[in-house]
Amino acid sequence: MSPASAPNPIVPTASARGAPLVRVVNLSKEFPAGSTGIIGGTKLSVKAVAGVNLEIQPGETLGLVGESGSGKSTLGRLILKLLEPTEGSVFFDGRDLSTLGREELRMLRQQMQLVFQDPYASLNPRMRVRSIVGEGIEIHKLARGKEKEDRIAELLAMVGMSADAMDRLPHEFSGGQRQRIGIARALAVNPRFLVLDEPVSALDVSIQAQIINLLQDLQEKLKLTYLFIAHDLRVVEHISNRVAIMYLGKIVEIATRDEIYLNPRHPYTRALLSAIPTIDTAHRPERIKLPGEMPSPMNPPSGCAFHPRCPYAKDVCTNIEPKLETGRGGHAVSCHVFPAP
Ligand code: ADP
Ligand code: MG
Repeated sequence: MSPASAPNPIVPTASARGAPLVRVVNLSKEFPAGSTGIIGGTKLSVKAVAGVNLEIQPGETLGLVGESGSGKSTLGRLILKLLEPTEGSVFFDGRDLSTLGREELRMLRQQMQLVFQDPYASLNPRMRVRSIVGEGIEIHKLARGKEKEDRIAELLAMVGMSADAMDRLPHEFSGGQRQRIGIARALAVNPRFLVLDEPVSALDVSIQAQIINLLQDLQEKLKLTYLFIAHDLRVVEHISNRVAIMYLGKIVEIATRDEIYLNPRHPYTRALLSAIPTIDTAHRPERIKLPGEMPSPMNPPSGCAFHPRCPYAKDVCTNIEPKLETGRGGHAVSCHVFPAP
């Protein structure tokens, strides 16, 4: 990534933390498995998210990283209440989302927005940019007429696009420009919190850096809080204040950005770091290569779900599931072999 600025400096340190903007408590989501999910007459389910706890502070970027299928998008959608949890709760600004009435939920929805991975799939190909960006302004009755036009132009300028984009269709833009439009659409309703679900995964590396820098600038200007999802640790390195690593529906490690990159504990985190092509190998801790693929969340391994792929696995790892234990500086890890520092 480019020599981007440091993550948002306004975020308080762990010792000076106040109330979180987002709090997730014991959150789980099971999907019924399809016809393939019947073994010996028992219907299985997919535990996409399995007992997740986390907090996101105002103004912070929490990076959420894991292989495809680890449950990142499901967790993001649960937090936005686009999915109902099987168990557990989500608190936004101190309020339990499950207890809100319709009108309260509508107001809260405006404060939480989603930016998708594939801006082409998520932008209606027949809608002009004016309508795409203006839709939320209309739904939430934020402006009309000339005022709305001005606001759309202002939003486009904020994401580095000119006002003449308004009369054009999504296919007339490059991938990076379409993602800028997707971001403008999300910002149109003045949100406080964005779930960015792999917002740069579909883009060329050079364009990725531009979009990440834009997101960082917008965060500072608009005092936004981000959950930034990626399958690659490289992508979230510069923007994250903290990073959570997800494996088979669970957080296996969560710590400040520097702790994750310079003092990773979990072998899965180290394997993800190994996958980053980097020139700065001298400052990286020991890398490990990850054998095999992630098992199906329909039938997760016993004990530590990572043990079949882990070069350090001992007997205890196959039998007993490690707890996510918090150590020094809030660095939490679930591993029998490399416990929290
Ligand atoms: P990620 O975003 O990390 O790639 P997802 O949250 O999309 O992971 O998916 C986690 C698991 O849940 C996967 O095994 C996926 O197949 C399953 N899953 C996600 N959504 C559904 C759904 N609507 N119905 C059934 N299974 C689902
Ligand atoms: Mg996903």
